[in-house]
Amino acid sequence: MMKIRTRFAPSPTGHVHIGNIRAAIYGWLFARHEGGNFLLRIEDTDRERSTPEAVRMVLDAMNWLGLTFDEEPLYQSTRTPAHLAAAEQLLSKGLAYKEDKGGTGMGEAIIFRMPGTDMEFRDEVKGVLRKKAEDMKDFVIVRSNGTPVFHLANIVDDIHMGITHVIRGDDHVENTYRHLALFRALGAEPPKYAHLPMIVNAQGKPYSKRDGAAYVGEFRDKGYLPGALFNYLALLGWSPGDDREIMSREELVKAFTLDRVRSAPSQMDIKKLDWMNGAYMRALPKSELEQGCCSILEQKGLWPVTGGMEYLARVVETMGERLHFFADIADHAAYFFTEDYAFDEKAVSKRLKKEGALESLRTLAGRFAALEPFTAATSEQALRAMAEQRGEGAGALVHPVRVAVSGTSEGPSLFHMLEVLGKDRVLSRIRRALDRFASA
Ligand code: GLU
Repeated sequence: MMKIRTRFAPSPTGHVHIGNIRAAIYGWLFARHEGGNFLLRIEDTDRERSTPEAVRMVLDAMNWLGLTFDEEPLYQSTRTPAHLAAAEQLLSKGLAYKEDKGGTGMGEAIIFRMPGTDMEFRDEVKGVLRKKAEDMKDFVIVRSNGTPVFHLANIVDDIHMGITHVIRGDDHVENTYRHLALFRALGAEPPKYAHLPMIVNAQGKPYSKRDGAAYVGEFRDKGYLPGALFNYLALLGWSPGDDREIMSREELVKAFTLDRVRSAPSQMDIKKLDWMNGAYMRALPKSELEQGCCSILEQKGLWPVTGGMEYLARVVETMGERLHFFADIADHAAYFFTEDYAFDEKAVSKRLKKEGALESLRTLAGRFAALEPFTAATSEQALRAMAEQRGEGAGALVHPVRVAVSGTSEGPSLFHMLEVLGKDRVLSRIRRALDRFASA
């Protein structure tokens, strides 16, 4: 059996769109599943856009996602002599001809002669695709300035690299007829093609920067974990055929086949990705999770704190599933690390500026003060007992306390939060809230 060889062939432009990297992920998974090779070819013939910086961004994105490749990357710009030699070969066989394209006298372009017959091929994702002879015109393969065109370079290099499967975006479907004709004209067996449908937004339009994060680097900077983005993109357009969603890399490799790639466009769902990121966060070794949170707190000037890493570990544990990103520790739990936490106005007017709320809070603070020890269990008991005596629901006390000690009405289990904050801080925060909002 022939060894499977796939490749990722990006044109470096400075950003790596998730649609492109998903093609790389599928190529990688397919090659690994088949025990084949996954290669990298940098299509850097556009010298203006393919700066060293743009190339580095491709390599960084692949490295971050663990898209290891076999063999040295091939830089297409080094292959111009081979591309031109192929054009000469086509000329000598009469499969291409020269023409002075615009009649400018600037020199002659080399034009490839299409076979003039209807064509069809079986796409691994889309099934059989066809095109009529009259819809396929001859096309330029070497410009009059002597530079090879994408189609020629792409095919000559795929032949050179021994590519057996081309997995790429379906914006290339129309090119494929030209590519197949070139393979045959050059006497090479064409690879199999798998064209991936686009990633679209909620309106069904191509997912772009305007819809949110669209480039690999943005996801990294926002704090997504590479494993989560990899897992999410693998499932965006492919499914294992059962209802598994959180899948390790090994599981993905084991399950990945091209026949389960969906032929309909895939809708980007950031909420689902965020959920998945949370699941990957919780699967991290505790120390890694805590270290990631600690770096964020340092960046935001919320670190160090009394209690150090041990205290941080208790906060992380209390926040639990609420941490979808390292940044959430600063964005949603800053009150654990500073007395200068913000008050959400809506929460204040709904919970603290309500008739009787501050009075109840004052009484409750008195009861909390008497508790020894002050734990989640004892504070809960005290609060519930007081609510019962007053013939109120516990909510009438729970909400005001939460807003007083955290500034917001959202957060983890209140009583665990109180225990982590500790009695002294809880009491002084309640006192400060009473002063502040009684006069307001
Ligand atoms: N450089 C082309 C692109 O990024 C390659 C297409 C292919 O994979 O053949 O769209």
